[in-house]
Amino acid sequence: MANEKTLAIIKPDALEKGIIGEICKRIEEGGMKIVGMKMLQMTPKKAEGFYAVHQSKPFFAGLVKFMSSGPTVVMCLEGENAIKRWRDMMGATDPEKAAEGTIRKDFGSSIERNVTHGSDASDTAKLEIVYFFESGELVNYEWI
Ligand code: ATP
Ligand code: MG
Repeated sequence: MANEKTLAIIKPDALEKGIIGEICKRIEEGGMKIVGMKMLQMTPKKAEGFYAVHQSKPFFAGLVKFMSSGPTVVMCLEGENAIKRWRDMMGATDPEKAAEGTIRKDFGSSIERNVTHGSDASDTAKLEIVYFFESGELVNYEWI
């Protein structure tokens, strides 16, 4: 298994619910390290760019509005097989279909308001990390 980095976002619905700590606890107890972290509110333009792959989807406008509606916590996670491990920890996109014990199952309110984001592959992880983090912001770890 490879040591990987992935991008995680705690979405605005999770900040409204006050569960930043709970999510970070699950990440750390799951054996991953948080190697970069910042709180920011995305502009609609920043959210559009981030989810550009979904531009043609019917839910795109709503997604951009939601993701720019309030502050988020953006993190770079590192660990063995971190991309898949973080996706498994989050659960399926639709909280109703997510497995028991996953973050989305426990805290998600709809397929849109589903608490967290996770990169889905190593190439997208790299692009997403540099979309939010400058060189040197990943503390104590080598730049990707
Ligand atoms: P993410 O990329 O946020 O980690 P994901 O990879 O599980 O989620 P994607 O298909 O990439 O799922 O969708 C991106 C985001 O768009 C979802 O997390 C969700 O917030 C929103 N979304 C996806 N499908 C729908 C839908 N059918 N209706 C409304 N919103 C949706
Ligand atoms: Mg996705």
